[in-house]
Amino acid sequence: MPTEKLPTQHLQEEMTAWRHDFHTHPELGFDESRTSTKVADLLREFGLEVHTGIGRTGVVGILQRGNDTRSIGLRADMDALPITEQNTFDYRSSRKGVMHACGHDGHTSMLLGAAKHLSQNGEFNGRVVFIFQPNEEHGLGAPAMIEDGLFKRFDVDEVYGMHNIPGMEIGTFATRSGPITASENLFEIEIEASGGHAALPHMGVDAIMVGSEIVGALQTIVSRKLNPGLNGVVSVTEFVTNGMRNVLPGHATLKGDARALTPEINQVIEARMRQIVKGICLAHEVNASVTYDTIFPPTINASAPAKAAVEAATNLVGVSQVDGECPPKLFSEDFAHMAHAKPGCYMLMGNGTSGSNSRPLHSDDYDFNDEALTYGSSFWADLVQQQLGQQ
Ligand SMILES: [Zn+2]
Ligand SMILES: [Zn+2]
Repeated sequence: MPTEKLPTQHLQEEMTAWRHDFHTHPELGFDESRTSTKVADLLREFGLEVHTGIGRTGVVGILQRGNDTRSIGLRADMDALPITEQNTFDYRSSRKGVMHACGHDGHTSMLLGAAKHLSQNGEFNGRVVFIFQPNEEHGLGAPAMIEDGLFKRFDVDEVYGMHNIPGMEIGTFATRSGPITASENLFEIEIEASGGHAALPHMGVDAIMVGSEIVGALQTIVSRKLNPGLNGVVSVTEFVTNGMRNVLPGHATLKGDARALTPEINQVIEARMRQIVKGICLAHEVNASVTYDTIFPPTINASAPAKAAVEAATNLVGVSQVDGECPPKLFSEDFAHMAHAKPGCYMLMGNGTSGSNSRPLHSDDYDFNDEALTYGSSFWADLVQQQLGQQ
């Protein structure tokens, strides 16, 4: 367990109760009405100024101390996933087909813990904007709040987000300056060939064969067209045709997912994909169309907030427990939109290395580690004290 030195240790039991309640009552993106009502009620109870309905189900809590105009935004996500939970503990999901399998129940609880602690004990001069966002999983909640005037109504100098990482030791933190999470891009390739009789392939054009060549060639983008020092992923995840046992298909659809850590890498992947499809289709005299949509941009940490986050974490848990230059992650995060709007930093926090705490995010037997509540909320509290401390 965390030592008593951690500032929010006294709230461990209370945060655990909130977390278990959220876990039992998970809600999908933009449907977080029970969750956001509870968040808003608790923030009011702590004495914060509360604004609801921002980006549909988003909630903002304001804590002002003194008259300084400096301000800091701290963000947690509240949504769950369409997964049926396999865990059997007593606070397991009560809703079939909906589960907190990404730990947003923990993120919400630890930001609430930080709000309670700072409202009672915070000695700073400035404004803390606590941001509880909906629908992270579809990448829609952060842009919805920003479009709804989040930073116009509640301006911040810098903004921070945090995510638990299963398999990373409890009480450890990691981040980096620059790209920290990848962009996610969904692509779809429609191949229009002429099809034909299975016994007379020379009379038509087989869309499966053309599609297969494309699937193979797409794997050369990362292995042969990207600088090996850069990161990217191209995955074809669906291959659907209208063929039958004795009919060569005339139509094939390839769908997939591509990840990139910078817009430049993303442009290379998209351009090479279009070129490969065009070239192979030309060779077989068939037509194809390509759509390539970026649904999550990459999260880019600005250097000053990244430095501040590393400093706060190091003061909290010690230099050996903080990696300030961790490798970037190839998953995606809609905090990217907030870090694009304001100088920001996305922090990774250990969720433990055993049992359900070490299962991959989005697994039906994953669980947030309650021990991380004190580490996460203490990090938030110390970061505020550090950034808005008395000058
Ligand atoms: Zn997730
Ligand atoms: Zn998540």
